[in-house]
Amino acid sequence: MDIDTRLSHGGRRFAESLNVVNAPPMRQTTRLFPTMDALRDAEEDGFASMVYGRLGNPTVRELEGLHTELEGGFDTVAVASGLAAISGVLFALLDAGDHALFVDNCFGPTRTFASRELPRLGVLTEFFAPDVGAGLADLLKPETKLVFVESPGTGSFEVADVPAIVAAAKEVGTLVVLDNTWATPLFFDAFGHGVDVTIHSGSKYLGGHSDALIGLIGARTKDAWDRVRRRAQLLGGCPGSEEAWLALRGARTLRLRLRQHEASGLAVARWFQEQPTVHSVLHPALPSCPGHEFWRRDFTGAGSLFGVAFKPDVPWSAVDAFCDALELFGIGHSWGGYESLIAARTLTTCPRVARALPTGPVVRIYIGLEAVDDLLTDVDQAMARMSVTA
Ligand SMILES: *Cc1c(COP(=O)(O)O)cnc(C)c1O
Repeated sequence: MDIDTRLSHGGRRFAESLNVVNAPPMRQTTRLFPTMDALRDAEEDGFASMVYGRLGNPTVRELEGLHTELEGGFDTVAVASGLAAISGVLFALLDAGDHALFVDNCFGPTRTFASRELPRLGVLTEFFAPDVGAGLADLLKPETKLVFVESPGTGSFEVADVPAIVAAAKEVGTLVVLDNTWATPLFFDAFGHGVDVTIHSGSKYLGGHSDALIGLIGARTKDAWDRVRRRAQLLGGCPGSEEAWLALRGARTLRLRLRQHEASGLAVARWFQEQPTVHSVLHPALPSCPGHEFWRRDFTGAGSLFGVAFKPDVPWSAVDAFCDALELFGIGHSWGGYESLIAARTLTTCPRVARALPTGPVVRIYIGLEAVDDLLTDVDQAMARMSVTA
């Protein structure tokens, strides 16, 4: 069935059991059983029985089911945030003595966890350039158990050659984990491209309204799901049922919203490309973005989050004046809601990337659901103010 249909009909078994379209969020710690025997049976059944709220909740389970339907994997584990998904997966899949490889342009906290926390647990970590491709083979050691990719990467947006990375990792039996938040399962088929475990921050497009923190871990195989579920649950970071309910609600309109985000995002990105103060627009669907050819080959759409790198002679004060003059863009973190946002970015967390892209200030722009002509009018007037400042 088409994605639009799955988004409308998936994750509704709990609701159907109540004869309603939407089940309310199930607020639950304790589940009661008619007899001691029934409790004992449920405990043996483990996860499936949802014997206690932290171990399973009907609303959360519906979200996990819908996400699995979208991704086509074995199953999903929902957790409290995208970052809980990242740390949960790393905790679940790595042991002392292992070696793990991370893409250089990954999300900041992923980088922090890899470089500061994993070594504390006896895991050796190294970073690789987003354009490594088949060259990953040279970095793999016998003890490399995990390769972590985010494509496009946070901040600098290079698109990686995921199939080449997967092929090199598969050769030596190393698991590939992908943070697929930018593209969502709708725009990048992670499991179809051989990825083993996916990470998705549902706080972004899935929730879609800047009001819920939630994370999803998708597993292609039962073995990966078992390991992740058992250990991620041990960390105790289960999602709230209200958040799971908001993510389920967001899913119903995800495809529709993404279509508009994609079109408006491209229109505004192209506008930036024409500006004399702009060095390059880091939007995976534009040829100016490193790895654009992999986006064209492997993705079926583009998110509306992208970077704008100004020319080296443009001072931060002028860029600040541009951002402050915007009327329709919020200044702040995160993205994926209905409102457009802008935030300052430096590329210094990714030294290799920063070296490869000698530019002035970089801002990260997120295009929401406003009318694109209004957004274009807004960036136009703000750019005029910036030129005065510069
Ligand atoms: C926001 C984000 C995360 C973290 O998600 P939270 O839900 O905020 O914890 C992880 N990866 C990427 C790519 C993100 O943009």
